[in-house]
Amino acid sequence: MPAARSPQLELALVNPARGVGSGGVIVTRVLKSHRSCKRTLEKVHYVLRYFPELAGAKLKVGLTRAASGMAVPGGNEIWLNPHRVSHHTISHELVHLLQRTAIGVPQGERSCDVYSLARHWTLNDVVPSYVELPARLAALDGTLPAAAARLVYETAVEALEHRHDGMRRYISWFEERLRTAVSSRPSPDAATPSAFR
Ligand SMILES: [Zn+2]
Repeated sequence: MPAARSPQLELALVNPARGVGSGGVIVTRVLKSHRSCKRTLEKVHYVLRYFPELAGAKLKVGLTRAASGMAVPGGNEIWLNPHRVSHHTISHELVHLLQRTAIGVPQGERSCDVYSLARHWTLNDVVPSYVELPARLAALDGTLPAAAARLVYETAVEALEHRHDGMRRYISWFEERLRTAVSSRPSPDAATPSAFR
């Protein structure tokens, strides 16, 4: 790990050694009675492993049908749609909670996407909503194969390093970098038939 990273960047990037959120998860009654509640909470707990900033905080999790997910500003509260909950959606909503803290995550949906994509590659399971990924990275159902998830993760980490070094257009840089990376790869048929489509 480069020694030059600022403490703020270290906090913004994942550091599982700092421990898992242990304050507990409070589940709303409506979510509790939903048949996908268990699966949803398993995903929440998995994603929380990569949010050491929330360790010790109580997180309230509710159900929404209006969107894939929502975060309640000012509170440790997220709302998820159990029908289409992904690791990425949970990660995105948890980054919204960090936007109000001293961690230094800038406001806005696009920055929220880049910061959530830089947490851990296993959280990059579906195409994000606000930043643009090359279509070839995703499977037809909108999921990201492992190789694509890793590439997106590594590129997002690099983009955040640039931002912390003062680059203002780090989100465009992230999108452009992925476009270049994908277009310079060998034909998917020749190399990685399932990873890049
Ligand atoms: Zn959002």
